[in-house]
Amino acid sequence: MNNFISNSTFATGSKLKVAIQKSGRLSEESLKLLKDCGIDLRNVKDRLKTESDNFPLEVFFLRDDDIPQYVEDGVADVGFVGENVVYEKNKKVTVVEKLGFGKCRLSVAVKKGDDYTDIFSLNGKRIATSYPVLVKNFLDKNNVNAEIHEISGSVEIAPGIGLADAVCDLVSSGSTLFMNGLKEVEIILQSQAVLIKNNHLNPELQALLNKIVFRIESVKRAKNNKYILLNAPNEKLSEIISLLPGMKSPTVLPLATEGWSSVHSVLSEKEFWDIIEQLKNAGAQGILVVPIEKMIL
Ligand code: ATP
Ligand code: ZN
Repeated sequence: MNNFISNSTFATGSKLKVAIQKSGRLSEESLKLLKDCGIDLRNVKDRLKTESDNFPLEVFFLRDDDIPQYVEDGVADVGFVGENVVYEKNKKVTVVEKLGFGKCRLSVAVKKGDDYTDIFSLNGKRIATSYPVLVKNFLDKNNVNAEIHEISGSVEIAPGIGLADAVCDLVSSGSTLFMNGLKEVEIILQSQAVLIKNNHLNPELQALLNKIVFRIESVKRAKNNKYILLNAPNEKLSEIISLLPGMKSPTVLPLATEGWSSVHSVLSEKEFWDIIEQLKNAGAQGILVVPIEKMIL
C-alpha cells in the first residue's frame, strides 16, 4: 500500500526525467557518469525506460538527434547529448554543464590530392554533411558560397562516389577521413557531451538537477586530479612543498625514520608529469600516485 501511494500519487511528479542516447558513442559513458554520481539504475540492459531506487529520477533511452526536442518540450527535463547535436538542432534548451567525454570536432575535409589554400577554396564546391545548419552558419560567417548536400550517414564516402567535392563530418582520430582519401582542412566546432535542461523547470526539479550537477562536478574534478604521496628528507621539504599546489597546502607527516617526512598532495592531470619530474630532481622518493574517486571543494 505504501509503495502504491509513494510511486503513483506523490513521487511521480517530482522525478527528474533524464534522456540518454539509447545506443551509440554516448550511451555507456552517460550511464557510467550517473553511476559515478551514486545513482543506481534498474534494468539498464533493456534500454527502454528505467528508474533509480536511490534518487528520484527516471531515464528515457532515445536517439541522440531527438534529445534536444524532447527536452525543449519537457518530455524529458534534462538530457545528455553532444554539443554538435545541440547547436545543429538549435532548440530552446540550456546547456548546464560540459561532461568531458564524447570529444570530437566537426570538420570540413576535401580529397587528399585537391589544392586547398584557404577557406575560399570552398567557393562553388558541393559539401556533403549531416550538419546543414552548422555548415551554413560557418559558410555565411566566412562569406563563402558553397552548396550544401544534406545526407544522413556515411558522409565520408560522398567525394569518392562523385556526390560532393568536400564533406563536413565529426572527426576524432581522423582515421576514417584518412581511409577514405580525405584531408581535414577546417574545424567548425569542437564538441563534447553536455548536460542540457528544459528552460522551464519547476523549483523542485531544478533542486534535483542542482544535486546532480554538484555530484557531476565532484566526479569530473576527481577525474582531472591525482592524489600523490611521497617521502622527502627534511632538509629538502621546503623545496618540495614549493612545487606542490595541493587543495589548500600539502599535508606533511613525520616518518618513523628520523629526518624524513611523508608529503601528501593533489595534482591536476595536466601538470602531473612535469611536477613529478621536478619532485624527483628535488629529492623526493617512493612517490605513490592514487586515483581520486570524488573531490568536493
Ligand atoms: P543515434 O542512433 O542515437 O542517432 P548516431 O549514429 O547519430 O546515433 P553516434 O555515432 O553514436 O550517433 O555519436 C553520438 C555522438 O558522439 C555524436 O553526436 C558526437 O557528439 C559524439 N562523438 C564523439 N566522437 C565521435 C566520432 N568520432 N564520430 C561521431 N560522433 C562522435
Ligand atoms: Zn544521431
